[in-house]
Amino acid sequence: MSNENLHPETLAISSGRPGHEAGEGINVPISLNSTFVAGGPINYGRTGNETWQPLEEAISALEEATSTLLFSSGMAAITAAFSLLPHGAPVVASHEGYSGTMALLKRYHAEGRLEVRFVDITDTKEVIAQLQGAAFLWVESPTNPGLGIAEVSVIIGEAKKRNMGVGFDNTFATPLNQKPLTFGADIVMHSVTKYLAGHSDVILGSLSVKDSALHARLQDARVSYGAIPGPFESWLGLRGIRTFPLRFEQAQKSAAELAKKLAGHNSVTNVRYPGFGAIVSFEITGDAAAAERVCDGASIITNATSLGGVETTWERRRRWALESDSVPENLIRLSVGCEHVEDLWRDIDTALSKA
Ligand SMILES: *Cc1c(COP(=O)(O)O)cnc(C)c1O
Repeated sequence: MSNENLHPETLAISSGRPGHEAGEGINVPISLNSTFVAGGPINYGRTGNETWQPLEEAISALEEATSTLLFSSGMAAITAAFSLLPHGAPVVASHEGYSGTMALLKRYHAEGRLEVRFVDITDTKEVIAQLQGAAFLWVESPTNPGLGIAEVSVIIGEAKKRNMGVGFDNTFATPLNQKPLTFGADIVMHSVTKYLAGHSDVILGSLSVKDSALHARLQDARVSYGAIPGPFESWLGLRGIRTFPLRFEQAQKSAAELAKKLAGHNSVTNVRYPGFGAIVSFEITGDAAAAERVCDGASIITNATSLGGVETTWERRRRWALESDSVPENLIRLSVGCEHVEDLWRDIDTALSKA
């Protein structure tokens, strides 16, 4: 059956299943093999694995990609994508983004490995001005943790007009909100760790593409650098992605409601919610210590980094030395999960009383 008319809920559940032959298991097995009998499609466990493929197929279906490569983490996927660029290549990237990506790009820049032009990705004019002579555009939108929104289709279009490569970290928005390949991006990256797997029990990353030559180069990078996912992690990711649309739709609905309630709370200022997604960032009317007390003061919500699990978490972002100093000291980033929204709000309200 063609994927074209299927909804994401169906794609997430039906992609990458074994056949319907009598006696076939309904789920794929966990393939624990480092080597394979000669003459088949997979020879060695670093070049392929039967448990990777179904999850790769499911991500491809959701992102409208032709193929997907799974990696041991989101950062391994990002590193593989940047490894394709020649030494010293000019890259345009947001100055506010995932802290691991920011640290990597700053290091590449300092070492001369890449010439990174950091921009305010929400300022379309500035982005376009910096595209001149650049080789690659890396986009994260919404940004993290400020939740700024780039004019995604415009900046990708401008980059493609200049024959640049475009990579897109779609971890926050997810394919339920935007599919960057359909706007012309060359590579879509996910920290599968977050919403796609969704249970805070696995670290995985992915790169999805439409172009088979690009796929071959990225597969070559995965084989050479060896940042491959474990079969069990891949299986957990596949098990998680089955319910991704259901979880994300619920979390997104609750996030919109909580953003509205937070905006009306007198201990809260500057609520950032872009109108979609399940992350809400806000400041409290108090200092860093007060923000820490709030994060420690909830009983359902856990004070923990990361995001995208069924369980709601939050943290004060500036507790990390890596976080950009443009992020306020008292900013809390809330990752909304799937608990009942009324229970979450009561928990937030109680924690805010400790500000
Ligand atoms: C977590 C995250 C990453 C890194 O992914 P890992 O799986 O932790 O390596 C990259 N980008 C975004 C937006 C993230 O949230």
